[in-house]
Amino acid sequence: MKTNDFLSILDNPNLISGIYNYCDRWCERCSMTARCSVFQTTPQLNPDDFANEEDFFKEVFKGVSESFQLTMELLQESADERGIDLTPSEEDDEWIEKRNRQKEETQNTSISLLAMEYLDLGKKWLDNSNDALKTLQEDLQSSALMDLPERNPEQEALALKDALEVIPYYLHQIYVKLLRAQEGREEDDAWFEENDFPKDSDGSAKVALIGIDNSIRAWEVMLQYLPIHEGDILTILSLLENLRRQVETTFPDARAFKRPGFDD
Ligand code: SF4
Repeated sequence: MKTNDFLSILDNPNLISGIYNYCDRWCERCSMTARCSVFQTTPQLNPDDFANEEDFFKEVFKGVSESFQLTMELLQESADERGIDLTPSEEDDEWIEKRNRQKEETQNTSISLLAMEYLDLGKKWLDNSNDALKTLQEDLQSSALMDLPERNPEQEALALKDALEVIPYYLHQIYVKLLRAQEGREEDDAWFEENDFPKDSDGSAKVALIGIDNSIRAWEVMLQYLPIHEGDILTILSLLENLRRQVETTFPDARAFKRPGFDD
């Protein structure tokens, strides 16, 4: 995309500033695409339009690289106008070193370890659930054929499909958002408080909490349809409940955080 096209999209007064900062990035399910500059300036690619996965990801990375290039050009332009020198200095190296140390500490907090444990367990369960899901699919197909009055196979299939999309979608995001929330808390909360702004750490924690809430609901659906996996699913659910409690205790204001466009 050319700089002028990019800037003319951003000129739209209906766009909500910063809406993309605290969303879950699930654009396919988002009701705010028309008001989001990230969506409007990002090429929407459909994997089905490509011969194979490799071609698809090549195009995705090409788009990301072009967008990064454009952002850097605009940043440099703005820095030049303000007389700011963007050349890295020794202080930047010290800052990067300090930040890397903090990142390492954050990865070892109880919240991060719990989120990582959930990621591992959830992924393992999904990787090993093919047989159970196939049986479930066959069961739904036979109950559709039998037209049983107490069953609604179409609705059941939709509920399962939704749960099977929700669980993998949030698996990594919960961990990533919780890292960001904890790092932000250490580094930037004081600045947000001094300047009377809602804290970014609370916003990130809220997005993680939304992911946890949605995942809990999705696992409950799986539990309902796969009682044979009750042991594993209950372990995952209790882990997620524990994580939710810890996040709510560590970020008591997160639930009340107002995300631009979504909670206004
Ligand atoms: S606000 Fe909606 S459209 Fe924009 S990045 Fe987030 S999910 Fe996607």
